[in-house]
Amino acid sequence: MSERTKEILEILKVKYPDAHCELNFKTDFQLLVAVILSAQCTDKRVNIVTKPMFEKYPDPIDYATMPQEKLETLIHSCGFYHSKARSVISASTDIIEKFGGKVPEKMEDLLSLRGVGRKTANVVRSVAFGKSALAVDTHVFRVAHRLGLSDKPTPEGVEKDIVSQLSEDDLSVAHHLLIFHGRYVCHSRNPECGECPLTEYCEYIKG
Ligand code: SF4
Repeated sequence: MSERTKEILEILKVKYPDAHCELNFKTDFQLLVAVILSAQCTDKRVNIVTKPMFEKYPDPIDYATMPQEKLETLIHSCGFYHSKARSVISASTDIIEKFGGKVPEKMEDLLSLRGVGRKTANVVRSVAFGKSALAVDTHVFRVAHRLGLSDKPTPEGVEKDIVSQLSEDDLSVAHHLLIFHGRYVCHSRNPECGECPLTEYCEYIKG
């Protein structure tokens, strides 16, 4: 475990005491759908789309039996609606046919579902099932590089680096803290370094 990384985490815990998953859902399945829809889309937009959708269509069977065009209309504003609709329908069908109607917990089973990559699987494992997992999305990737937590060029490489620096208990919270920092302060363009408590750790502002 890295003392430096632990220090960074403690500072972020003070800055974002309420860091959590900002996608709204009531079931494991709804979380999975929301994460699939969140690719290249904001959590805020996904929540606007899923609120009425989950009320009317809460379960895998609703999507497994839904015509693709209908789902595309429902999720249109999330972008990439064609491939996202195909993924949700296919994943729902597999969940019913192969996993008894329940979202599987194992990484390999999650990765077998259409539209589910390593990031989505890790979010579901962490948020829905409480597993020690670190999902690396665009925010985590950027912040990790800026803070010198990893120099790896792929999300999987960054995941491995951070996992090696933290205890299992800290991984899920680290995911939310790094996302909050990337989303609210350490923006891709024009990071608000004046608001940041991590300047002394930051490789980015050191140039
Ligand atoms: S100092 Fe600026 S670039 Fe570095 S982590 Fe903080 S907000 Fe991001």
